[in-house]
Amino acid sequence: MPGPQFSSSNSKDSFDVIVVGAGIVGMAHAYTAAQRGLKVCVVERDAACIGASIRNFGFITITGQARGDTWRRAMHAREVWQHIAPQAGIDIVHRNLWLAAYRREAHDVLEAFMRTPMGQGCELLDAVDAQAKAPALSLADACSVLFSPHELRVESRTAIGLLAKWLADVHSVVFRFGETVHEVETPRVRTSRGTLRGERVVVCTNTDLHGLFAERIAAYELTLCRLQMLRVKPEAGFRLPGSVMMDLSLVRYEGYSTLPEAAALRARLREEEDASLARGIHLIVVQSADGSLVVGDSHHYGDAPEPFAMEEVDQLILRHLRSTLNLETAQVTERWTGVYPSSKSAPCVIDAPDDATRVVLVTSGTGASTGFGIAHDVFETW
Ligand SMILES: Cc1cc2nc3c(=O)[nH]c(=O)nc-3n(C[C@H](O)[C@H](O)[C@H](O)COP(=O)(O)OP(=O)(O)OC[C@H]3O[C@@H](n4cnc5c(N)ncnc54)[C@H](O)[C@@H]3O)c2cc1C
Repeated sequence: MPGPQFSSSNSKDSFDVIVVGAGIVGMAHAYTAAQRGLKVCVVERDAACIGASIRNFGFITITGQARGDTWRRAMHAREVWQHIAPQAGIDIVHRNLWLAAYRREAHDVLEAFMRTPMGQGCELLDAVDAQAKAPALSLADACSVLFSPHELRVESRTAIGLLAKWLADVHSVVFRFGETVHEVETPRVRTSRGTLRGERVVVCTNTDLHGLFAERIAAYELTLCRLQMLRVKPEAGFRLPGSVMMDLSLVRYEGYSTLPEAAALRARLREEEDASLARGIHLIVVQSADGSLVVGDSHHYGDAPEPFAMEEVDQLILRHLRSTLNLETAQVTERWTGVYPSSKSAPCVIDAPDDATRVVLVTSGTGASTGFGIAHDVFETW
């Protein structure tokens, strides 16, 4: 039987690079390849990206990322976002991070963090000073506030579509939406609509652990993590000074949680906030252009996470929101869940089934922050 027929190398079905998945990780690889003058195609099974990349906070987080590769990649990705956002018509809705420490132990973690190289550019403000600068925060009971100038925030639910349009219009990236990739045997990519040719293939399929390269992915012993998110309408005119976090984040984000000082905070939180710890709850608040707040989140792990959002989780998140911000009203207008693959040992998997193929999965809640940095590293060494 004759093998699959590729048309000639300049045909519409032949590419230098085929990317599977049109989330932010796929998009970052498409951008990086196109920047290198390569002819790129992105194949996405849904009619548009509706995965983790549009469900997140759009919070490009630098401060608190794990030291080493993750932090370095986030710093790189931030530069890329800053560079391309205006070109692609993506607003940087706000900048900076304000992380309020309410417990003495949380303050100690922040002090220790400031002594690391990752504290570079950040300031540890006393609560009175911070309150004057950031009246939206409720700091009467706070010890101190970490201010970081590094963070950005984009509106993910529109940014991902705008990025795709810009990559297509300006960088001639071909998008094939509504087409599932069934098999990759580089250069052959078999899809629900036919067979494509890609000299190199990057698989960025996120939570699809049992699809392409399932056996290789299984070796990384990943599970899934489901998060609950809310959109909240505050009173008119309420303005956040930037992204906001508090004590609970210091035992989640590795840049803080791996510091020795985090042990005492963890012990105290176990006594005072056990319900939140048990549900992986901490607080991130970001703001949209219309003034609404995106608020989260929780973390539930399992191989088949249930899609049902729990009211008790939302109520815990809202309690942290009310105690951290000076809000008069907090009307919930939307609730949703999102899922990402999770690893106990690595924030991301870059696997090479062969010389011409890469599987790239972000196995932590950091893909919007690090995707462009990961893609840069992938192409630098390929
Ligand atoms: C609720 C939530 C909040 C988060 N907050 C943040 C945050 O603020 N900052 C941050 O940095 N990170 C955050 N993250 C993590 C971040 O969103 C993810 O790391 C990132 O979106 C992963 O991008 P992706 O492209 O791999 O996945 P996705 O966006 O899920 O895209 C993968 C795509 O692959 C497609 N696909 C799968 N299989 C196939 C196939 N066989 N053929 C064709 N297409 C296929 C899917 O349809 C999907 O569109 C959050 C995650 C969640 C869930």
